[in-house]
Amino acid sequence: MSSEIDVGILGATGTVGQAFVAALENHPWFRVTWIAASERSAEKRYADAACWQLSREIPQEIGDMLVNRCVPADSPSLIFSGLDSAVAGEVEAAFAVSGRTVVSNARNYRMEPDVPLLIPEINPDHLGLLQQQSETRQWPGQIVTNPNCSTIVMTLALAPLCQFGLREVMVTTLQAVSGAGYPGVSSLDILGNILPHIPGEESKMESETQKVLGTLVDGDVRPHKVVVSAQTTRVPVINGHTALISVKFDDEPTHEELVNAFRTYRGRPQLEKLPTAPDHPVVYLDDPDRPQPKYDVDREGGMSVTVGRLRECPVLDYKFIALGHNTVRGAAGAAILNAELMKIDGLL
Ligand code: NAP
Repeated sequence: MSSEIDVGILGATGTVGQAFVAALENHPWFRVTWIAASERSAEKRYADAACWQLSREIPQEIGDMLVNRCVPADSPSLIFSGLDSAVAGEVEAAFAVSGRTVVSNARNYRMEPDVPLLIPEINPDHLGLLQQQSETRQWPGQIVTNPNCSTIVMTLALAPLCQFGLREVMVTTLQAVSGAGYPGVSSLDILGNILPHIPGEESKMESETQKVLGTLVDGDVRPHKVVVSAQTTRVPVINGHTALISVKFDDEPTHEELVNAFRTYRGRPQLEKLPTAPDHPVVYLDDPDRPQPKYDVDREGGMSVTVGRLRECPVLDYKFIALGHNTVRGAAGAAILNAELMKIDGLL
């Protein structure tokens, strides 16, 4: 269809890249016409280069595409990036310099003051940073990022609670192995085990949350006052990051007010009915044994965060459990939602 926008995927062979390929199949606005990965994969058929991990089939037309090198050359103007962070910084900048819009999952530009760190339900106005990015960097293109996967899951659960004066957060995560990419952690390290260290993850949750929940004032994001203390672990779950969260407020919300805040939370993606937006970005379940990755990770195509077990906390004020799909809501789906918001805001 002539109204579709051609898009490319950097890191298309990886875990996040595969989630992009799957999520963009039959997308009403975006059509994958170009894919790229490392030298290892370049010039191979996608189906031969990617170790496909999803239960659905590789879309036929993508499976037959040849994998490109990560250079702008004949790539389309909208590029999704699921690149390894070791190379994302340089490669994504090269694409922005060559006039492409890069919508990235990688950590490299997330905390740059002129780069939006976007969750469209929470801070769609942070796209205003692109004006400053254009002035300071003089790139003909632009870079927009989404937060780290565990940050997205937690922050979507916290955003409805900000109205009560969110002040302190203690969080412990139980993160899926797919969050480490492919081949990721070895089976002997993770089976029957818990890994108590995910390099860089705790500081990302602590700083990215403040930026996402922050306020755009005069072209700068003023970080939210909330202080986050994070402990992150890797557990033998395939998909779905679980976060055990305790919160402290300035106000004294009731249990009912908090549940109502979770259940009624909506943002621009829902109002604008963006194609990838879930009807309910946060779903609160009353059952005492939920959420569970096995049953809840794919809710609304993996784009909803499921929350449960809200109860009083004897140290802070309340505690609860949140779960979200790390490669969908925490990565590819997040970036696609960002691009959809940019499209309706005339930024593509
Ligand atoms: P992955 O499975 O290891 O995939 C990495 C991708 O980067 C592959 O396509 C790989 O291509 C490509 N790549 C590696 N080295 C390269 C090089 N030197 N030049 C060009 N391409 C290169 O990792 P992933 O889990 O998909 O993560 C991708 C990015 O998303 C990372 O920045 C990660 O932090 C972020 N992220 C991941 C998740 C998650 O849940 N997995 C969530 C949020 C954000 P080859 O296949 O050819 O080697």
